[in-house]
Amino acid sequence: MIQPNKGRKIGIMGGTFDPIHYGHLMLAEQIRTSFHLDEVIFIPVGKAPHKTLSNAAQKEQRFEMVKLAVASNPYFTLSDIEIKQSGTTYTIDTITELQSQLSKDDELFFITGADAILLLESWKDYQTLVKKVKFIGATRPGYEKKVLEDKIRVLEAKFGAQIELSVVPALAISSTDIRERVDTEKSIKYLLPEVVESYIHENFLYKKHHERFFEFKQILESTLSKKRYMHSLETAHTARKLALIFNVDPLKAEFAGLCHDFAKEIKGKKMQSLIIDFGIYQDPSIIATPNIAHGEVAAGILKKEYGVMDEDILDAIRWHTYGNKEMSDLSKIIYISDIIEPTRDFEGVEEIRKYAFMDLDLAIVKFFSQCTPHLEDKHLKMHRYTTEMVKQILDSQERN
Ligand code: NAP
Repeated sequence: MIQPNKGRKIGIMGGTFDPIHYGHLMLAEQIRTSFHLDEVIFIPVGKAPHKTLSNAAQKEQRFEMVKLAVASNPYFTLSDIEIKQSGTTYTIDTITELQSQLSKDDELFFITGADAILLLESWKDYQTLVKKVKFIGATRPGYEKKVLEDKIRVLEAKFGAQIELSVVPALAISSTDIRERVDTEKSIKYLLPEVVESYIHENFLYKKHHERFFEFKQILESTLSKKRYMHSLETAHTARKLALIFNVDPLKAEFAGLCHDFAKEIKGKKMQSLIIDFGIYQDPSIIATPNIAHGEVAAGILKKEYGVMDEDILDAIRWHTYGNKEMSDLSKIIYISDIIEPTRDFEGVEEIRKYAFMDLDLAIVKFFSQCTPHLEDKHLKMHRYTTEMVKQILDSQERN
């Protein structure tokens, strides 16, 4: 039985938290209330002794997610004790440092899943550790406790460990499952706090990316206006989603979506001279509004100056503004993602969005029919390639 003490009762919730989710938060809260703890300190591990992951978030990102997740509970706090260390972090070292910062009367309760108790003898310096902290092992309803209780008796008798078990509700949520869901564009809503979900989304965590994705993300962040940069990120997100639906390489789609407006903010004489340098066809619409050639110009710059050689990606960027009669599915995805990404809110966008996730061609034709009157009102010309693209789509629909 855990004995009472006059100091504060502090729960320690160590974890990789990659990412933190409602299972972790529920566990900490249940133990806090059952054991009348004054505080629970969440300690994200720096470099775990027991885990190596290929698509892991950086430790600073895991820390940030825990910070967001615990902010709404006044009894939860957060420590960077392990995050700020460089090598592998062991619980014994963390607890020793923590105790030096707390009052000597404070009692520490290490909160863990019950299975960790079975493996406790593999932890560094566990004989000392069990004398420094009391362990609370959480089991789920229906957990077969016999083996665990035998182990606890041994640990108590041999090393003076103090270990209690507590039943918490079963929430079948795991960080591994969340990472897999993110990578395959499945919903993670209601598995973790919304603020953490947004953080994962905004930081492109847990996905496989094109090898140059983060390099170009940084370039765009420092060269484009904030609004254009956010639009580029959202186009990348949307393109990835559509790619998974239409069986197109999601890494190429995401990368092309990210870079599609690489040259959009080049203006005036510079744009005109690049149009000439890259030998771009001078359609009347381009002569009237040179900036509409920014897709072709971007493809030219990315190839010549940045060594992007993938022609599928370059084509998708090249044709994203006015299209082309020989558009691949990837090119159609970038064309339409640019139009429907979530920050777009023009009249009629909802309808195009709805079509886009069912039929790319239909969405393109729908957009064309919406924007033709607007161009006419402003006495602007449609690029020849756009008319050819739409004709090609309509012809093929008629044939089928
Ligand atoms: P984790 O996977 O992030 O999980 C943290 C805690 O949350 C675990 O106790 C886990 O219990 C629990 N949990 C996860 N999903 C849950 C759910 N759906 N419902 C209820 N509880 C849930 O952390 P970890 O990587 O196992 O690490 C835990 C701590 O042990 C860390 O502080 C780590 O440093 C420490 N550790 C130390 C050593 C050492 O010093 N040598 C070795 C191993 C671990 P379950 O495991 O039952 O899911």
